[in-house]
Amino acid sequence: EELAQVPSEQRAAWEKYTVPEGNDVDSIARSIVHHTTTTLARTPYNMDDFGGYQATAHSVRDKLIQDWNETQQYHTIKDPKRVYYLSLEFLLGRAMDNALLARGLKEPYTEATKQLGFKIEDLLEEERDAALGNGGLGRLAACYMDSLATLDYPAWGYGLRYTYGIFQQKIVDGYQNEVPDYWLTYDNPWELPRLDISIEVPFYGHVSKYSDENGRTRHKWEAGEIVQAVAYDVPIPGFDTNNTINIRFWSSKPRKEFDLAYFNSGDYNRAVEDQKKAENITSVLYPNDNHMVGKELRLKQQYFWVCASLHDIIRRFKKTDRPWSEFPDQVAIQLNDTHPTLAVPELMRVLVDLEGLEWDEAWNITTRTFGFTNHTVLPEALEKWSVPMLEHLLPRHLQIIFDINLFFLQTVEKTFPNDRDLLATVSIIEESQPQSVRMAFLAVIASHKVNGVAALHSQIIKDTIFAPFIKVLGPDRFTNKTNGITPRRWLHQANPDLSNLIAKKLGSFKFLKELSLLDGLSKYANDEAFQKEWMDIKYKNKVRLTNLIKERTGIEVNPNALFDIQVKRIHEYKRQFMNILGVIHRYANLKKMNAAQRKAVVPRVVIFGGKAAPGYYIAKLVIKLINSVGEKVNNDKDIGDLLKVVFIPDYNVSVAEVIIPANDISQHISTAGTEASGTSNMKFVLNGGLILGTVDGANIEIYEEIGDDQIFLFGARSEQVEDLRHVQRYRNVPMNPELQAVIHLIENGTFGESHIFQPLINTITVGKDYYLISVDFGSYLESNELVDEAFKDKKAWAQKSILCTARMGKFSSDRAIKEYAEDIWNIDPVPVPDKK
Ligand code: PLP
Repeated sequence: EELAQVPSEQRAAWEKYTVPEGNDVDSIARSIVHHTTTTLARTPYNMDDFGGYQATAHSVRDKLIQDWNETQQYHTIKDPKRVYYLSLEFLLGRAMDNALLARGLKEPYTEATKQLGFKIEDLLEEERDAALGNGGLGRLAACYMDSLATLDYPAWGYGLRYTYGIFQQKIVDGYQNEVPDYWLTYDNPWELPRLDISIEVPFYGHVSKYSDENGRTRHKWEAGEIVQAVAYDVPIPGFDTNNTINIRFWSSKPRKEFDLAYFNSGDYNRAVEDQKKAENITSVLYPNDNHMVGKELRLKQQYFWVCASLHDIIRRFKKTDRPWSEFPDQVAIQLNDTHPTLAVPELMRVLVDLEGLEWDEAWNITTRTFGFTNHTVLPEALEKWSVPMLEHLLPRHLQIIFDINLFFLQTVEKTFPNDRDLLATVSIIEESQPQSVRMAFLAVIASHKVNGVAALHSQIIKDTIFAPFIKVLGPDRFTNKTNGITPRRWLHQANPDLSNLIAKKLGSFKFLKELSLLDGLSKYANDEAFQKEWMDIKYKNKVRLTNLIKERTGIEVNPNALFDIQVKRIHEYKRQFMNILGVIHRYANLKKMNAAQRKAVVPRVVIFGGKAAPGYYIAKLVIKLINSVGEKVNNDKDIGDLLKVVFIPDYNVSVAEVIIPANDISQHISTAGTEASGTSNMKFVLNGGLILGTVDGANIEIYEEIGDDQIFLFGARSEQVEDLRHVQRYRNVPMNPELQAVIHLIENGTFGESHIFQPLINTITVGKDYYLISVDFGSYLESNELVDEAFKDKKAWAQKSILCTARMGKFSSDRAIKEYAEDIWNIDPVPVPDKK
């Protein structure tokens, strides 16, 4: 299709001059020098590592763009059904190492940069993270894009190009400070600006009715403001395959024309001001994880993104002159959480208002197109938008939502006559003051499949928030897709030594694309020589983390100690508070011991990391408490290496890549029923670590795979949580005495001024303890003791560590993506052939 645009006389010239760049060291070095002198306009004589990184990145980018072009052209010709993954967050991290490994070019690039006077590790460190996400949800989207590309699926991601990603966290006097993440200061070589691709996105205004030529009543939305969406494309290379897929990120720009009314009235400044406002829409990522904030600007972001993406998808669909009825045969759209749910009324608006389809046909197309992934049952995270706000910003969409609701409730009423309660329970509209739209209900009703992200979570959503919909829609709409992680980034890239050792043992790197092959390691778990190689790599990774800790915090830790890690967003439900309370208990115990008793103690380094939402006061106090405890314990000469407490600032993907391979054990200790899946749990175990965790999310399935010798589970079960909360609230249960003692230590000023921590202590003492820390604390301490005991037996521990990795095959995102492709999207791989 592309070539057809070149006149036949010139085609030979195009072919003649299309010389693929070589992948040998000389060609690579030449391209790096070329980019240094042209793209960067620098001379080879004043290069620093940052310049070296930039030039190398541009050289790698050239290759990705070529693969990207071939892939997109091939898919255009083949015209298969595609999947579009709509995610408001993509937590991609760094791109260069990933691209080099995917394309098998790490070695020649290492050599070429070496010849030019660089160390490739130093260049890789110069890259800034692409941090357009908060945590698990955004990182899942990134792993899924990697698997879609690697498995040769024709897939696109759609997101927003935030000018500011997740804030950078600084720790000042033990408190979190937030610094804006202006990540585009220097140019971003991993994106291709597509300034020619722009879509007009309307807002505000009013809706009028008219009769069309057939006498049908039609609606016309006249917008009060129009903003331009401009595309920036980020190529995602598949591992060891040609397929290079695209994430299209939209950036908001003012419309090309000034508002003539202002301009003509001489109000030039006003005209310019309005233009500038347009750019605000994609300016900043909302920094809340699992928490909804009902700001109009956020709603504007959602519609801006959904409108631009959908129109782009429709434009592509329309290239082939198919009837609308075939839209769901060509297009699958996955809603990553409810954030893109406005795509539902938007598609209905396009089909009914713009394309003139009948409502029923449009609805049929819509429901066959969408799939919806639910990520949480936490009430504060479920999106509800106020009806007046929606009406103001998107008047036509609100009408459509009300119509969807009306028709839906009519069908419910037919099947369940006289069940008024049921109608109120399943209504998309909540009769609050003011009314609000339950986005999750809209997404459920409009999607042919709804999935949770781990077995327990998928069951919980059927039993709780979506229970009435089982009755109304039947059980088949609901399914489970347990999350997964990409072994390319989280094993091969983050832990190259271990990946190489595994390849040596298994005979190839095939396991990176077929993770269940790791099972072949099981038979060596008891092999002493292999255990030594395995644990030597673990030690090396712990030294690497020890250096990072020293560099970022100044704290010196002993790499021979047990590394116990909890890194994730700081949240009450994730219970970092319980962890630090446990640390205080450990410290108090150590203080009571005599020298002989201390000799028997397993030295432990307890490592924390994670950001708190800027407005989440209690979470920020947890960070302060961790740092205050660290301050006391780490400076207690009497304790030495027996216990260290570290808070690593600014946890992000590239820091995770250093932390995770160094774990002996990691903690995933959410109150049962609150963590939908977790994905870092999978990453830690894949890197040969054991888990200390609750019976929650994917911990359960990890337990089923790795066996109970490799995981320490404790605490209340999800079925008990509601009753336990009731008991906590209404009966006078005496507090666990060990917990009481710990709280007493905080209150008596052992860790500095106690009054600052009072609001935190209140969350578990004044008769609510919603997250049940006081209930689980006893069993948590017991499990911690079991961990110490197990770590004393080095040989048994090495065996456990190997078995952890060996049994993680299930948790590859490749497995998850295949399930989505087969059960929800109905798409097939379309492998891009090798270049001739
Ligand atoms: N944040 C970052 C930077 C990550 O790399 C991950 C990885 O899984 C997460 C958050 C999610 O962590 P968790 O599953 O523990 O919530």
